[in-house]
Amino acid sequence: MREPAEKFRQIRDSIPEEVDLVVASKGRSPEEVEEVIGAGAKFIGENYTSPEAVEKYQELGEIREKVSWELIGHLQKNDINKALPIFDRVQTVESVSKAKHIDKRVEKAGKEVVPVLIEVNSGNEENKYGIEPTEEALKKTIDGIGELSHLRLEGLMTMGPYEGNPEDARPYFEVTRKLFEVGEKYVKEKDRMEVLSMGMSNSYRVAIEEGANMVRIGTKIFGPR
Ligand SMILES: *Cc1c(COP(=O)(O)O)cnc(C)c1O
Repeated sequence: MREPAEKFRQIRDSIPEEVDLVVASKGRSPEEVEEVIGAGAKFIGENYTSPEAVEKYQELGEIREKVSWELIGHLQKNDINKALPIFDRVQTVESVSKAKHIDKRVEKAGKEVVPVLIEVNSGNEENKYGIEPTEEALKKTIDGIGELSHLRLEGLMTMGPYEGNPEDARPYFEVTRKLFEVGEKYVKEKDRMEVLSMGMSNSYRVAIEEGANMVRIGTKIFGPR
């Protein structure tokens, strides 16, 4: 087996079955993405920042239908129309206003409903996107999305610190998991609180210990960017 496929399998086999593994493939070639899909990847995470994701998606042809395309990078308002036909879920909704902008464009993209996660800025960092990590901010965002018939809330996503000791990320994952639990009581009928997406190459084990049921891994599968 080629390298990324083998690494994907090793990680897949080492984490609990109920934890979904998103392969973070920004900057990787269509061939590399095809390899991990061949190895059984079900979720591909892209950061929509350039036409790169669109080209990769198109080049993959029919194979792309085998996986769920997850938008894990920040979504600019101007990119919504281009992103919606590609992505099966948007993990980075950071405000009610962004949610409204997406909702307005769903039908035009030929879809009825787009699944979304609320991004939590768990470290309250100025240079990161996401809602404030408070119950109040979460409730407000859940209520806002609850009004939007073309969005289905499915859970929460957080980044936490990019690098450093994995243990340093634990408090951020813990805060997000607590919000995930408390959010349950605010969700509307059409929405749910099921997906908790957190943890990357250096921190996914800690994230799983703290309750993540979805992790997003790039470097550990493909090597350094
Ligand atoms: C790149 C990226 C990842 C994966 O990071 P690695 O350290 O390469 O595993 C996860 N989540 C998001 C939002 C990313 O942009």
